[in-house]
Amino acid sequence: MSYTGQCHCGNVKFETNLKPMLVVQCNCGSCRRLTGSVGVRAMYSSDEVTWTGAISEYVYQGGSGGNLYTQHCPNCHTNVYTTLDYMEGMTSIPVGMFDDPQEIKPWLEIWTDAKLNWVKDDGCITNSVPDMGVQERLVEVLESLENR
Ligand SMILES: [Zn+2]
Ligand SMILES: [Zn+2]
Repeated sequence: MSYTGQCHCGNVKFETNLKPMLVVQCNCGSCRRLTGSVGVRAMYSSDEVTWTGAISEYVYQGGSGGNLYTQHCPNCHTNVYTTLDYMEGMTSIPVGMFDDPQEIKPWLEIWTDAKLNWVKDDGCITNSVPDMGVQERLVEVLESLENR
């Protein structure tokens, strides 16, 4: 199965043959501002995803103190993917980038302390943590490596 996606204007595109290692819902206020909504992202090893199109970078410091490197389309400014200091070699793709996001469901959520009380899921989320959940994210990624 292949997964494809693009930014709003279509200049930036991606393709991968693998399902995500992890789909994580981040409820923090920083992701809310950056995405304009709730931050749900699919995580891949960076070398598993092929990108086409020019990309520009915006860097900021996350709640952990490490930097996040958000990549944007220079034309429509969609956040196309993000890399993180504390998860080296990993790429996070916003679920809205996917051409078919219906089955890209989160199963881990982080920062539930900051969660909007009207955000619900269909039971897909099986692991919720109140903080940044670095340990939980690493454990989930390692577990999914055996099931891809
Ligand atoms: Zn674009
Ligand atoms: Zn966040």
